[in-house]
Amino acid sequence: QATREEFHAFGEKHITKGVGRITKGIITKGEGSYVTYDDDRKLLDFTSGIGVTSLGHVHPKVSKAAADQCMQIVHAQCSIAMNEPYVRLIERLLTVMPHPTLDSFFFWNSGSEAVEAAIKMARWFTGRQNIICMQGAYHGRTFGAMAPGVFSIPYPYWRQFNLPTDTPGDVLAQEALYQLDLVLAQQTAPSDTAAIIVEPVLGEGGYVAAHPKFLQGLRKVCDKHGIMLIIDEVQCGYGRTGDWFAIQESGVAPDILVIAKGLGNGFPISGVVSRKELTDKLDPGSMGGTYAGNAVACAAAVAVNDAIKEENVLENVNRRSEQLFTALNALKADPDVKNCILDVRGRGLMVGVEFGKGDGYPANLSSLVAKKCIEKGLLILTTSIYEVVRFIPPLNISEEDMKKGIDIFVESVKEVAK
Ligand code: PMP
Repeated sequence: QATREEFHAFGEKHITKGVGRITKGIITKGEGSYVTYDDDRKLLDFTSGIGVTSLGHVHPKVSKAAADQCMQIVHAQCSIAMNEPYVRLIERLLTVMPHPTLDSFFFWNSGSEAVEAAIKMARWFTGRQNIICMQGAYHGRTFGAMAPGVFSIPYPYWRQFNLPTDTPGDVLAQEALYQLDLVLAQQTAPSDTAAIIVEPVLGEGGYVAAHPKFLQGLRKVCDKHGIMLIIDEVQCGYGRTGDWFAIQESGVAPDILVIAKGLGNGFPISGVVSRKELTDKLDPGSMGGTYAGNAVACAAAVAVNDAIKEENVLENVNRRSEQLFTALNALKADPDVKNCILDVRGRGLMVGVEFGKGDGYPANLSSLVAKKCIEKGLLILTTSIYEVVRFIPPLNISEEDMKKGIDIFVESVKEVAK
């Protein structure tokens, strides 16, 4: 019988090095906003498994729906027949779509696969090849998702233009839209351009929310040239910003919407949503995959959608967001932390804190702070190539747990930025 340490060492040895990890040990249990490790460490989880467990770990209704479905049929392959949870999920999603034109659904397993499917659709719909993406964007780790286009424009983020932190969002939007004009004039002609793909809130690139004028500007350009607008809400969608979808704030209608993460609260499911008038052009058999739209994942996703509505989760997002922003802005202004916080930003419960580099405090503050938080019982992640710590707690987190997490973060920043 191996000891716990030997068992850990066995895992470390045989799991490919390509998978990085921020903590040691094995997670054995999740319950609401907490995870427990096999040495009985219990951590408050402000990562939600990278923005996935929006209803907390092991939400009873979601787990029960999945367990019940397991006893009915697990693998009802989507190219063989429809399955009931798949169709029920479409019923639910139609009630929350950011625009009524979105009425045609395809379910996949992961965000990356859904992004690839969206790109494939856009090429099919337009008969064009090129894709324009945003600098700093992240759409996944599969080949197509890593290289969604040879062409890119800056995201409306002050870093991209070397402008001051407090530059108004509409000014950044204008700058970025000007760069789009240039790319379309000089690098990829509109007649060669199938799609523009954008995250309304930049995720892995640093938790930056785009000004609505930027998204509206993209829509205008796409309309003018018959380019598809792909909105990637894998990370920022499904309640994370306090709206069902981040794009809603701008009133923009996506041609193709990509969703994942929070959709299944941990069950692997993603979705690509478009207009029937467009998807009717696809050849039967051109979309699909062995596990696509798995019945258990769909049943879980139906329960997630119901629970978000029944438990008024979006209202909680707005209240907890205010609590978080108030505390982080107070910390930013606190002379004790020597102005080490450059920026507090984001929307809803997708919030980033960007630290500065140098000036009498350590240069790699974000990872030092995250490490310190973990030691003190708060699981939290960094993001982007800049010094950003990200807050993505469960959307139904309680006021007390939010306060507990904030206290640990504040304490950690004060200790690290000495
Ligand atoms: N798009 C965005 C905006 C993401 O944040 C991610 C994952 N972090 C992906 C796509 C890829 O999703 P997955 O990891 O499920 O393939």
